[in-house]
Amino acid sequence: MSKRIAGPEIERLIQLLAKVPGLGPRSARRAALHLIKKKEQLMVPLASAMGEAAEKVRVCSTCGNVDTVDPCTVCTDPRRDPATVIVVEEVADLWALERAGAMNALYHVLGGTLSPLDGIGPDQLNVKQLVQRVSEGAIKEVIIAVNATVEGQTTAHYLTDQLAGFDVKVTRLAHGVPVGGELDYLDEGTLAAALRSRTAF
Ligand SMILES: [Zn+2]
Repeated sequence: MSKRIAGPEIERLIQLLAKVPGLGPRSARRAALHLIKKKEQLMVPLASAMGEAAEKVRVCSTCGNVDTVDPCTVCTDPRRDPATVIVVEEVADLWALERAGAMNALYHVLGGTLSPLDGIGPDQLNVKQLVQRVSEGAIKEVIIAVNATVEGQTTAHYLTDQLAGFDVKVTRLAHGVPVGGELDYLDEGTLAAALRSRTAF
């Protein structure tokens, strides 16, 4: 049995930190030690920020985003175009698209992709709510911005079928050559997709 080097409270802190994405046991020990050293400047405010966020965080009943208010800040932002909705897999994708700042649209977070092998069907995803939103008539374009994976594309096809009966344009992201990318370095799948989704000058 290995000897303990800290009391159970610190051991528990390290164990929990090690579950954070991007941190393993080693980084968790470093982070814990750093928090302990910076107790007043970092550990105490972090603990209270976490407590407050944990208490207030909720899922938006309209779009599936996480926020401390429902409907969320994105859904209630009057500067966004209510006729355009971007469908994403996860909240992280919503944040990424917002950082890109290319669109001024509303969002819909699916909460994953269809994956029958893992038991994830339409009922496990935020699909009904999307169809409901579209059926209300204000949305004119749905941009399906899912990952370029097999599951992502299966999900995109499924959603397109579900929305086929409505007066709404369904589009998807172009797949292709990344900005600054050199053709020689691209994999065949990316290159083939870029050719298929070519645009006129
Ligand atoms: Zn929302």
